[in-house]
Amino acid sequence: MTPVPTTTQLLLCPVCSRAFKPSKNQNSNLRRHLKNVHNMSPTMHPRKCKWDSVPDGRIKDDKDRKERTRKSKRLSARKTRLRRKAEEAALGLCMLSQAV
Ligand SMILES: [Zn+2]
Repeated sequence: MTPVPTTTQLLLCPVCSRAFKPSKNQNSNLRRHLKNVHNMSPTMHPRKCKWDSVPDGRIKDDKDRKERTRKSKRLSARKTRLRRKAEEAALGLCMLSQAV
């Protein structure tokens, strides 16, 4: 087995095409660059964070924050339920196809 070279995986800034050398935190480097230089919220983040679903970005006050936390908790609970269902369904299909 040959090790896969990681040097080819340069991250490019989608705005100014600036390349970011591979490193442990190249992702956060690019995200920080986007935020600081272009005043953009990160869109390259592969994993959806809970704020991605918040339509009007900024939290106004403490009450707002609590309200959002409650909402996102409810939302993620629903997502977890849905995912579990999907997993069970997938598992069932898998077992089914193995049985055939
Ligand atoms: Zn840039």
